Amino acid sequence: MTPTSPLRGMAVVRRVVGVAAVVAFGVWLAGPRPGGQAGVNHADGPAVLYELSFPEPEHRWMQVEVTAGGLPAEPLSMRMSTASPGRYARHEFAKNVFEVRAFDGNGNELDPVRSKMARWDVAGHDGTVRFTYKVFGDRVDGTYLGIDGTHAHLNMPASLMWGVGIERRPATVRFEPPAGRDWRVATQLYPSDDPLTFTAPNLQYLLDSPAELSAFMERSFTVADPANPDHAPTFRVALHHDGTDAELDRFAGDVERIVTEMVTVFGEFPSFETGRYTFIADYLPTASGDAMEHRNSTVLSSPGALRTRHTRLLGAVSHEFFHVWNVERIRPRSLEPFDFEDVNPSGELWLAEGFTNYYGALILQRAGLADLENTLARFVSAIDTVRLGPGRQFRSAVDMSRLAPFTDAASALDRTNWGNFFISYYTWGETLGLGLDLLLRVRGATDEDEAARKVTLDDYMQLLWQRFGRAGGAVPGVVERPYTQADANAALAELTGDQVFADDFFDRYVDGHDVIDYAPLFERAGLVLRPRAPGQTWLGSPSLSFGRGGGRLTTPVGFGSPLHDAGVERDDVLVSLDGRPLSSERRLEAVLGDLSAGARVSLVYSRRGEMLTTQLTVEADPTLELVSAEQLGRRPTPAQQRFRDEWLGSKAGL
Ligand SMILES: [Zn+2]
Repeated sequence: MTPTSPLRGMAVVRRVVGVAAVVAFGVWLAGPRPGGQAGVNHADGPAVLYELSFPEPEHRWMQVEVTAGGLPAEPLSMRMSTASPGRYARHEFAKNVFEVRAFDGNGNELDPVRSKMARWDVAGHDGTVRFTYKVFGDRVDGTYLGIDGTHAHLNMPASLMWGVGIERRPATVRFEPPAGRDWRVATQLYPSDDPLTFTAPNLQYLLDSPAELSAFMERSFTVADPANPDHAPTFRVALHHDGTDAELDRFAGDVERIVTEMVTVFGEFPSFETGRYTFIADYLPTASGDAMEHRNSTVLSSPGALRTRHTRLLGAVSHEFFHVWNVERIRPRSLEPFDFEDVNPSGELWLAEGFTNYYGALILQRAGLADLENTLARFVSAIDTVRLGPGRQFRSAVDMSRLAPFTDAASALDRTNWGNFFISYYTWGETLGLGLDLLLRVRGATDEDEAARKVTLDDYMQLLWQRFGRAGGAVPGVVERPYTQADANAALAELTGDQVFADDFFDRYVDGHDVIDYAPLFERAGLVLRPRAPGQTWLGSPSLSFGRGGGRLTTPVGFGSPLHDAGVERDDVLVSLDGRPLSSERRLEAVLGDLSAGARVSLVYSRRGEMLTTQLTVEADPTLELVSAEQLGRRPTPAQQRFRDEWLGSKAGL
C-alpha cells in the first residue's frame, strides 16, 4: 500500500470519528438530495460531482467532468486506479484516459501535470477544480469499461478519476445518456429523486459501484429474511441481452431460488445499504465472460445467451451471491481497506473465493438447479486438479492465494508455466470447503452426543458471519472487523470445541500440502470415489496439437509425469511411441490402451527439427470419478441417504 492510499486515511477516521461520521451522513441523507454543489457533508467537505456523458457512443468513449470545491490551497492530485476490488491483478486503467483538462471555479483553464502514469496534479486553483477527461472503453465485463451504441457498462475504477485528500467526501454522479436513447441506470449507488442522478457516501463505495446504462429489461422480487420477517430486501435483475422476456422470467425465477436457498446458510441477510441488491447481467455476443461481486450488486457478463447457457450462467449467479456475505462482509484483513493504487495480495483467497466456489455449486444442488451427476463430476474434477497438480508439492493453498496478482486476469508477454507452478485458489479452496464440510459432518455423526455436537460448514460460515461480517461498518462500504487466517482457525476451534481438529485442518491442508482423504467421507453419503479408467495408462495429460509430423506439445509438461521424466518439453513433437506413429489423438489412445502401467517403451520425438529417441515408462491413469450408489445399481443405506439429504437437500423447502 502506498502512503497516498485513499483508504488509509479513511481507516484512521473510522476509528477516531466513526459515530460522528454516521450521524453526519445520516443528516446528509435525510436532507435535500445533492445536486450540483448541494449535499454538503459537514464532516467531510462538499460532495464531489461526477458528470458522465456519451457524445459519441459508437466511438466508445465517455466524457467525464469531476468538480470538487472547498479544496485547500495546495495542488489537487487526481488519480486513476490501478486496481479494482475483486480483481486481484494490477490493471493500467489510465492507458485509456485522454484529453485531460482542468479549470478553476471561474472557468480559467489550468495546466494539469501528468507526474506519474496514473496521476495528474492540478496547481493554481481557487479552491475549486473542474477536472475533465475522456476515457475509452471497449470491453464489457466486470473489470473494464465498455461503451457502444446500445449501452455504457461501467466498472468505476476503469472509469472515474478521484482526488487525493477528498476520498471521504460523498459523491454525486449524474449520467447523461446520448440524445434519443432511453437508457436507464442499474447500479448500487444511492438513488435520488432524479432517475439519472445518484450518490455515494464516499470514494470507497463509489468505486465499488458498477453501473449499466441501457434499455435493459428488468425484474425484481423480495425475499423475507428468515431471521426477521419485517426485513425483506428487494432484489433487482437488470438484464441487457438479445433474448426474450420469457427467458428473463425464467432466469429471474431461478435467481430468486438461489437467493432463497443461500440465505439459509447464514440465517439472515445483511442490511443492504440502500435496502436492495442488484444483479447486473450483460449476456451479449460482444461481452466477455466474467462475474464480479460488489457490496450490494454484482456484474455478470457472458458472450453466451440465456437461451443456450441458462444453467451455466446460474453458476456465476450462485457464486457471486455467496460473496454478499463471504468477502464483501466476511472480509480478509489483507483486502481491507482496499488499495486502489496497488495490488492487494491475500493469503485467504482459498476461503474467500474457494469456499465461495464450493457453495456456488452446493447451493445450485440444494436449490434443485443442478443434477447430482454434474455436481459430483465438478467436485471430483476439483479434487483431481489439486491431487495431481504439481504445484501442490512446493506451494500451499495460502501460497496460491497470494499469487492472485499474477494469475487473476493478469497478462504476461513472456511464456509462463502456471500448469506446474499454480493451482487455482478457487479450485483448491473449493476442495477445502467440500472436505471441511464432510469432515465436520462425519465428525459430528461419530460423536457420542451426536445431536448436540453435530456441526457443518454452514455453521462455520454462520459463525464467521456473526463474528466478522454482521457488525457492518460505521462507514458505508468499509468492513469494520475483517478477519485473519488465525481468526478463521480460532473460529473453527470454537465451533467444534476441538482445537486439535482445527489446528490439524489448517496445518495439513491450508498451510500444508496434504490432500484430504475423501473416499471414506463420500462413502457416508453413498458415493463412491474410484479410479476413472482402471487399467488405462497415461503420459500425464499433455496438451497436444496433432499434425503431419505427430503431436506437438503446446504447454509445459507436468513435473513428474512420464513425459517429463522422459525429458521431453513444450514444442517437442511426439512422433512415435513403442514403434507406432502418433498421427492423431485416437492413435495415441490406442497405443496407450495396448500398454500396461509400468511398461518401458521407446518414444521418438523431434525437437527443433532434430529426431531424438528416449525411453519412457507409462503409468496408470491416476484420475478419479465420483459416482453414486444408484449409478452402480445399488441403493444407498438409510443412513447414507439421510447424510446425503442433510448435505445436499434444500434448507429453504424448495
Ligand atoms: Zn468470486
